[in-house]
Amino acid sequence: MVRGIILVLSLLQAGSWLSAAQTSSAPDTPEAGSVEAIAAATGDKHFLSPWVSYLPHSATVPSPLNFLGRIAGAPGELVDSAKAYAYCRALAAASPRVRVFTIGHSEEGREILMLAIADENGIRDLDRLKNATATLADPRRTDPAAAERIIANARPVYYFNAALHSDETGSTEAMLEMAYRLAVSQQPMIQRIRQQLVVLINPVSNPDGRDKVVEWFYRYLKGKTDRNTLPRQSPPYWSKYAFVDINRDTHQQTHETTKAVHRMFHQWHPTVVHDLHEGSPFLMTWNGTGPYNPNIDPITYTEFLELSFHEVQTLTAMGMPGVSTWNFGEAFAHLYLDSVAMNHNSIGRGYETWGNGTAETLRRVVPPAEASMEWYRPLPPPAGEVDWSARDNLNYQETAALAALDYSAGSAKAMLRNFYQKGWDSWQKGLNEPPYAFLIPDGQGDRTRVAQMVGRLIGQHIEVGLSQQELKLKDGDYPPGTYVVRLDQPYRNYAVDLLTPQRYPKDGSEPYDDVSWELPAHYHLQAIPTADPAVRSATLTPLAEQPHPAGDVAGGGPVFLMRDTGQEELLTARYRLAGFNIEVADHAFQAGGIEFPAGSWVLPAQSGLINAVRFTANDLGLDFVSAAAVPDVPRHPEKAARIGVWVPWADTDSIGWLRYSLDQRRIPYTYLRDEDIRAGGLRDRVDVVLYGHVDLELAEQVQGLPKAWGPMPFKKTPQTPSFGTPAESDDITGGIGWEGLAQLQRFVEEGGLLVTLGSGSMLPLEGGMVRGVRRSSGGVPRSTQGGGPDSAAAAQQAATRTPGAHVRVTFDQPDHPLAYGYPAQTYVFRQNFPLYDVPRHWLRMAYCTTCLDGPEDRSPIVMEWGDRSGEPFVVSGQAWGEARLIGRPAILDMPAGRGHVVAFNFNPMHRDLNRGDQRMLWNAILNWQAILARKANQSDPSNKVAP
Ligand SMILES: [Zn+2]
Repeated sequence: MVRGIILVLSLLQAGSWLSAAQTSSAPDTPEAGSVEAIAAATGDKHFLSPWVSYLPHSATVPSPLNFLGRIAGAPGELVDSAKAYAYCRALAAASPRVRVFTIGHSEEGREILMLAIADENGIRDLDRLKNATATLADPRRTDPAAAERIIANARPVYYFNAALHSDETGSTEAMLEMAYRLAVSQQPMIQRIRQQLVVLINPVSNPDGRDKVVEWFYRYLKGKTDRNTLPRQSPPYWSKYAFVDINRDTHQQTHETTKAVHRMFHQWHPTVVHDLHEGSPFLMTWNGTGPYNPNIDPITYTEFLELSFHEVQTLTAMGMPGVSTWNFGEAFAHLYLDSVAMNHNSIGRGYETWGNGTAETLRRVVPPAEASMEWYRPLPPPAGEVDWSARDNLNYQETAALAALDYSAGSAKAMLRNFYQKGWDSWQKGLNEPPYAFLIPDGQGDRTRVAQMVGRLIGQHIEVGLSQQELKLKDGDYPPGTYVVRLDQPYRNYAVDLLTPQRYPKDGSEPYDDVSWELPAHYHLQAIPTADPAVRSATLTPLAEQPHPAGDVAGGGPVFLMRDTGQEELLTARYRLAGFNIEVADHAFQAGGIEFPAGSWVLPAQSGLINAVRFTANDLGLDFVSAAAVPDVPRHPEKAARIGVWVPWADTDSIGWLRYSLDQRRIPYTYLRDEDIRAGGLRDRVDVVLYGHVDLELAEQVQGLPKAWGPMPFKKTPQTPSFGTPAESDDITGGIGWEGLAQLQRFVEEGGLLVTLGSGSMLPLEGGMVRGVRRSSGGVPRSTQGGGPDSAAAAQQAATRTPGAHVRVTFDQPDHPLAYGYPAQTYVFRQNFPLYDVPRHWLRMAYCTTCLDGPEDRSPIVMEWGDRSGEPFVVSGQAWGEARLIGRPAILDMPAGRGHVVAFNFNPMHRDLNRGDQRMLWNAILNWQAILARKANQSDPSNKVAP
């Protein structure tokens, strides 16, 4: 009926809906004007359900129509966080069925607010209900009989998370309207939801981003309805650091939004955490196509299918086309915001509805591939053009959410029983099958990194103890001070998932995101499983928070030495000691009977040194030893580099994590915008330019956002008070241009060090700042990730892919400063990046005047892909087509003029996860002068530079 035609609302249609809505609204009375306004904002009668076709009238509680002066989802309007929160407070003030909680504050200081909705009894009993789910979460203190008694008077808590991705704008208003409906409607279905559940709603989970996007809409998008000529739909920043990646933060919990939701989770133990996204026509309710993560309790996979099928069935029965499930992502990686539930015995789920990225109605096209009838899409959306409105999007979100709540209310006791059962299963597995524990030895070359990894586990409410005595187990002995993760605990499954390698099936469908998140691999540390149940009789001190190990200062100087054993904190130490002379040993040496590897620090006698060393040792967990005189070893003095971080306006997402990591360590740097690069004089301002991974092709890296959109200021004004953070611009379009590229080249030629990560390395290698490196066929840029199962088979055959896996590498130059702290054979985390050939000399042959066909020159290769000693390529995750990758450059160090380009073919700064890879980048910063002093073909860096 709607296939291939354009649907336009007529007044006649609106009139004919009125009676149907009035019939279905009983016993509610529709609020005056609400039926007409909702009908007028809806594009086609099939895009509306009776449930959301009116607002129930209330004499005491303000409706969104009443409060906003318009219906939620009205065309051309978006509510910002202040107004959304004001409405939430008005609702809570007027209704005994609603309460408001502040669950956190954003990076820019905005409140993160949550509503709790239930009947009057539920609201009065919130503390008891919270206590009930908390008790069910731990089967060690709640036996099955006690659990049944608790379940009889407990309720599932259902949590909705809106507007995490700020340009997915519809869910905030959908949730405000649903909150009102849940609070006041007298429909039997709504009454049962209120009686059986506690509904939590976070209407603006990323308020910094929401306010920027709302201002962006009014400044650049309002009134524009032609999708073909729309300017960029999103400001360059949402949050201070992350953009889309903000929902890839569950394991590491770095963003305030993630922290708030995790805190909420461990207070309320919601049975469902439901994240509202926008991306598919018209509503996709997540399940994943498989492969499935074996460390999630299998009950969960049936639970989320049940919920999804109920939604598909309910909306399909209402005649709403385009509601589907299954065909989106896999279900192997649980690294998203909702995954806090998946990883802690609850249900994490989400929608992708069809958002316009603007509040205006747009003519959209449903691709034929998404319009076929399938078992997972029984009533497909119409192929071809559709006029789609913000209210259409809202109607689908709110109707499906109500269907999910209706299902949960009808299955309340079963859902609670499953929640308890999953905790029980996890605990029992740890009691009855090996491994019985993981042992994390202290030290491991970097005791602070060990403590940080333990801190991440504790942050997930995984219990970790510190052993008080020597542990003699049948598979190994461990000294006192070893960290022990016993697996007889409710979150055993998550502990196993985080502490063991991932094995993504080689014949599995195309993964949506990373395929490895193993913490020991990310941290380059060991966590050793034990099959000896005797570990349970060890005396352990439970750890309530991340340990903070202090370092040791042996002796009183005047010279101090520090062994380089791979400590990640060396970069921080260099800037804590910024005013002091530090020299770095080119080779291993002995002093006082101790072996010092290459990269170890020599701090000559200087005023104030001892206090600074003591402070640094204590703060960062680093050990210093005293010497009477400087040792006789070739070494290079290294000043603390002046760092510049270039963040192109066209993509701020991945570099946000690099900024985050520097900010956390309080490393000073200059934020370089496109216009700062264009302005030149870079060598006067900074010594090292860091250019991180960007999801941009070469032309986009140079030319940036289309100039046709410009000028696009991103500045604080009375109309746009949220703009201009963390950086401002008079015009974010145009990129660095050829002009900026020339300035970068000048920076290098004048003796600067340019370090590029991931796809950022396309700029120097393919842009020609350094020569001799050709891009090989067979690699894929990261942006082809998430292609869905249809593209998987072809992609697997065609390309080399490491979609977020830990894979082995070999240092070709183990004495290069980039290798300090690492063994010659190690591994790093790699996503899908272009593949580069081994550099070649240029030969000008008559038959081939433009190709690189001379002899290979391996001298710029610092590190190559693969393990020369023959270890399996994959450490954790999976790789495809790896034969083409092995032997090719993983890190190149190429001189150009008086400077150098160091190009990484991976991203050592991936979402603050791969902490063990970061030292390679820190090495470039710490040893910038030594790298600049290296000549082409130089494998022995024994020449010294002037301090
Ligand atoms: Zn999203």
